[in-house]
Amino acid sequence: MKRTHHCNELRPEHIGQTVTLSGWVHSRRDLGGVIFIDVRDREGRTQTVYDPSDLPPEVFHRAEALRSEYVIAVTGKVRRRPEGTTNPKIATGEVEVAVSSLTVLNQADVLPFQVDDPEVASKVNEELRLKYRYLDLRRPEMIRNLRMRSKVAIATRQHLDEQGFLEVETPTLFKSTPEGAREFVVPCRTNPGQFYALPQSPQQFKQILMVAGVERYFQLARCYRDEDLRADRQPEFTQVDIEMSFVDREDLYQLIEGLLKRIWKVALGIDLPTPFPRLSFHEVLNRFGIDKPDMRFGLELVDFSEEFRLSSFKLFNSVVASGGVVKALNAKGLACATQGQLDAMTEIARSFGAKGLAFIKIENGEWKSPIVKFFTEAEKAALQNKLNIQEGDLVLFAADQWLNACEILGKIRLYCAEVLKAQGKLIISPNQFNFLWVVDFPLLSFDKEMNRWYSSHHPFTAPVEEDVPFLISDPKRVRGQHYDVVVNGVELGGGSIRIHQPDIQKTVFEQVLQIPPEMVQARFGYMLDAFRYGAPPHGGIALGFDRMVAILCGTSSIRDVIAFPKTAKGTCLMTESPGQVDVRQLRDLHLELKVAKKE
Ligand code: ASP
Repeated sequence: MKRTHHCNELRPEHIGQTVTLSGWVHSRRDLGGVIFIDVRDREGRTQTVYDPSDLPPEVFHRAEALRSEYVIAVTGKVRRRPEGTTNPKIATGEVEVAVSSLTVLNQADVLPFQVDDPEVASKVNEELRLKYRYLDLRRPEMIRNLRMRSKVAIATRQHLDEQGFLEVETPTLFKSTPEGAREFVVPCRTNPGQFYALPQSPQQFKQILMVAGVERYFQLARCYRDEDLRADRQPEFTQVDIEMSFVDREDLYQLIEGLLKRIWKVALGIDLPTPFPRLSFHEVLNRFGIDKPDMRFGLELVDFSEEFRLSSFKLFNSVVASGGVVKALNAKGLACATQGQLDAMTEIARSFGAKGLAFIKIENGEWKSPIVKFFTEAEKAALQNKLNIQEGDLVLFAADQWLNACEILGKIRLYCAEVLKAQGKLIISPNQFNFLWVVDFPLLSFDKEMNRWYSSHHPFTAPVEEDVPFLISDPKRVRGQHYDVVVNGVELGGGSIRIHQPDIQKTVFEQVLQIPPEMVQARFGYMLDAFRYGAPPHGGIALGFDRMVAILCGTSSIRDVIAFPKTAKGTCLMTESPGQVDVRQLRDLHLELKVAKKE
């Protein structure tokens, strides 16, 4: 019995045809002696009917014995469903198959959770779903996610192929370069005491491919980071990894805008407007208090340092006098915030070292706040004008050093947006995608504890050309040729134009980042060597593929778009990995364990 149709295909025009379907028993109803079974395959569902008056008794008995998720093949005639029993929710809802023969291809044990329940994801604990991932993946929602992922991968390959890119695989057994995140290491049997490391990204290989003259490279690259997993991270994840020669930042922006336009069209039928706005790191922090702003709503931060420089309110004027800023945001319509919500916002401010949170509620035509009495009329007028204050608003302040003030209000802004959304005062369509480029990041950040500079992005990012002379004399003012592409408050990807001159790269490693020359040689010597043999100017980017698919699927968790994800502890509950290895394997690897073996 070979299938003639998939379970999403039958329509009124098939009425009268004899068809064969195969798939799983999705759901079953027994009505007045007649059995109704929805058969499900990857594509959809079809109702099949088993009527004892039309069927040989042994076939009917077989139907009676069917349980959820049995695998079956059925043959029968397509007919119209009786009046009043059509199901507009499914594509085949106008017809049913009157079964004449039924084969049970396999049975199924009693299920740990119901595959046909559309609410599994909210009802069943995720650990159970991960343990029985094959059942979880049978659910139509999950198949839809896998299909979306496949479609996006193929569109990406097609687009980049059309743009002249070569797909090149780079090794996943790499060497340890302990920069940034912690790595997974792999002991090497043939070189006792030596280890490979799994790459955190193909960064160095893709740059070497540019030296090799590949000119345009891409890869859907698996990357590995051994970090303590934050809520929605995975120890292995996929990037759309790209590198190009003879380009500047503008070329990269155009390439990625074209690629994302193609993906959004193929995946959602949405035409993304391009070019995306380009905002500097300074501007996004100043206006939104974060380097990955959600631009689907306003609630922007406004600066009042000048207005309060000579204020009689000491808390504000003293901060400005010490080089800090006074910033405020108007949470429109949030004067109704509960004490609990105000406490939560105050807690945000405290987590950045602030002593508290100053705010004004505008209620019954009055500005309610213990600080208002310190304000002059001119100061009030400035607030009124620049924040467009109205009845029912809540104005929140941060007075601190610039970055801290921005970040405090940036977090409070996001918190307020959530509250406003829950109250129905802020409505965001699921089809709204506000992309932007964040550019002109500082090349370096200062690590106070270690008392040294480190790369804001990575050490291969080129400084903005006119800032190169200040690399050593004034590192703080050097901007990097780094860019992030951001959508709806999520950093989708980032990249940079790279340093291609071996002398500048060496200066960055040794004099700016203060890595001892022997260490530079050991870790990056081969790259500096390569650069001496004609490295073209080049740049690239990596997009988080899992994150992108999650956004396209409208799911908040990347685990929902990865076939076999790991838990927050880095374990696979289905295969029970990681696991132990036996003594002989350890001996072959020249390793001895210090931790006691778990029984
Ligand atoms: N390798 C970088 C990363 O993984 C991206 C890039 O610079 O292309 O974040």
